[in-house]
This record gives sequence, structure tokens and C-alpha cells, in this order.
Amino acid sequence: MVDLLSQYEKIQGEVDQAIQNVVRSSAYINGPEVKSFQADLEAYLGVKHVIPCANGTDALQIAMMGLDLKPGDEVITATFTYVATAEVIALLGLKPVLVDVNEDTFDLNPDQVRAAITERTKAIVPVHLFGQCANMDAIMDIAKEHNLFVVEDTAQAIGADYTFNDGSQASAGCMGDIGTTSFFPSKNLGCYGDGGAIFTNNDELAKKMRIISNHGQTVRYYHDMIGVNSRLDSMQAAILRCKLPHLNDYISARQAAADYYDQAFKNVPELKVPARNSNSSHVFHQYTLVLSDDIDRNALVEYLKTKDIPAMIYYPVALHMQKAYKDERYSDGDFPVTERLVSRVFSLPMHTELETNQLELITSEVINFINNQRS
Ligand SMILES: *Cc1c(COP(=O)(O)O)cnc(C)c1O
Repeated sequence: MVDLLSQYEKIQGEVDQAIQNVVRSSAYINGPEVKSFQADLEAYLGVKHVIPCANGTDALQIAMMGLDLKPGDEVITATFTYVATAEVIALLGLKPVLVDVNEDTFDLNPDQVRAAITERTKAIVPVHLFGQCANMDAIMDIAKEHNLFVVEDTAQAIGADYTFNDGSQASAGCMGDIGTTSFFPSKNLGCYGDGGAIFTNNDELAKKMRIISNHGQTVRYYHDMIGVNSRLDSMQAAILRCKLPHLNDYISARQAAADYYDQAFKNVPELKVPARNSNSSHVFHQYTLVLSDDIDRNALVEYLKTKDIPAMIYYPVALHMQKAYKDERYSDGDFPVTERLVSRVFSLPMHTELETNQLELITSEVINFINNQRS
């Protein structure tokens, strides 16, 4: 699905030097590279505060902790997402309230969000799934109206831009109270291990989340609140500093691959190519298609495997159907859009190093399979 080695080889000189510098500095934790990367990312995103942390799941957890939510408080998020989003809500004793997504853009359906609001609702977590922003105009309006926090899960969409209906623009993750992201190796800005970050324009929240991520201490060995140990290490920060200047090129490469796929599939009625949210750029963390009901999805994935083409299902099970998150509040059929999507979506290889001959092979094999099933 991804080709991290070829990407590394193109910037090997810089990266090897950066790693060597950290090793020689022996400032492995909280070294100067972490602060420099933080500043670089703040400038790139146009956000006041970036708080580096250990991974994208921790980023979500620290965000929730920073908002001072109380056990039983309700947090609304999508049932069609990666598990981390709901996991941290549940871990903190908060109540995840799952809602359905839009059929075309896979993002939180604002009408469903509205319908799910109760007097215990405290926050909304839109997920910028697969690389484009959710409908932030609607979500920010709802949040304002009901006095709710907004935490944007930006693990899949770093570098995407959103244009509000009034013409103002912002980076993904920098519109709500807090944004979170992940630097997991296969993410659009990936390091060579685990990493994550939190974004906010709110000085007070930033200060608090920095304290939380460092054992709740303001001064060493003086702990003012319960915190966690969640750090981005210096080595990963140094690698990310090398990669950040290339992020826009990486995004362009992904978009070019997506355009190729779009063109190749535009006349295949069995395939629905990813719809674009007109307010957001799409940075294509995944290129996810919806397959029509008359084509056997598992057989397609198996067929592609025999041609050495990895195809993946993101995600095969909706959160409300997961064993860990089953709840008497939900039953089969409650979220018809997500329930159909989990049985029909599949994602094709998407990364920065896709060559035309690979794209040719992938698209022609997908079409071959569909033509064979058709006849
Ligand atoms: C990857 C991902 C996360 C979690 O990031 P980790 O760094 O793996 O903890 C959270 N939310 C979404 C939507 C993701 O894709």
C-alpha cells in the first residue's frame, strides 16, 4: 500500500545526517530538534501552538483531558472511522456517541450530529477521513449554537486546506478548539516510528495540554494535575524536520495518483470514485472507492493479491458493530450509510512514489476483474 523505502532514498542524505546529529548530541528526549520541529510545523500550519506527543491516539487523549470533561459527558463522533477516535473517549470514562456519515464524502453527517445532541453533550470530534476535511462550516455552526468543543482528528489529513463559506481559509486541524494528528510511518507526514501532535490557537489550552503530556508537572517533580507521559523523541522530530519541507510535494504526488485513478475509472459504472468536498482540498491519505453491489468485493481483493497489488478495506467493521463498542443504544440498521460503506469500500495503493506503470497495472487489473464478473 505504501513505499516508504523509495521515499527515504530520495532524501537519504539529509535524513541520515539528521539522525547522526541527534545520536552525537545525545539529547534523545526533549532535545532541540523537538522544539525546532514544533516551530516549523506551527509555521507550516499557521497555528499558534503545536504540542508534539508520542502518537495520534495520545494526541486525542490529551486533547480530551485538556477539555476537563467529566465522566458521563458525551462526545459525538463518526461510527465510520479508525478505532482510536472512540477509544480515548471511552478510556476516559466519557460516553462516545456515534453517528452516521455522508455517503459521498464519508464525513460526519451534520444532521445526525444535531439529532444526537443532549444536555450532556460536550464535544464533537469530526474525523478528516482519508485526507479531506469534514464539513467544518456546519460543524462549527452546531458547536457555536450548542456551546460544544470541537476536536478535529487530523491523523489522515495533515496539510489539507479548508475554505469556509465566507471565504476564510484554515489548515486541517486548526479550525476547532484542538486538532490532533499522527506521524505513524504510513501517514502523509510519517516518521520512522511513532509520533503525534496536538494543535491549538488557544493559549490556555496549549499550556494545559503541554503540562498534561508531561506528567502534569509545571515544575519538575511538582505535579498540578494528573497527566500522561507522551513525548515525541528527538530522533523522530529530526526526521520529521527533514520531511516537512517535502510535504507539499508528497501531497501533489498523491493527488496526481488520485487523478490517474479517477480518469481510469470514470467510465466504470461499478466503481464510485472518491467524491470531493468542495470546501476542502484532498490530500489522499487513502484512495477509497465504493464498489457496486453486483461485484464481489472479497473476490476482487483476492484477485488483486494474486497480481501483487495490495488492496485494503478501510474499514471492514463500523465502530458500533465492534465487540468492544457494542452498546444497547445501537442496533443493526441504525447507521445505514456506514453499514453499506463497510461492506462496499476498498482502497487502492496510495503513496508518494507510485509510478505510471504501476498505476496502469493496478487500474487495468481492477477493470479486468470487473469486466470478467460482468460477463
Ligand atoms: C492513525 C489514526 C489515529 C491514531 O494514530 P496513532 O499514531 O496510530 O496512534 C487516529 N485517528 C485516525 C483517524 C487515524 O487514522
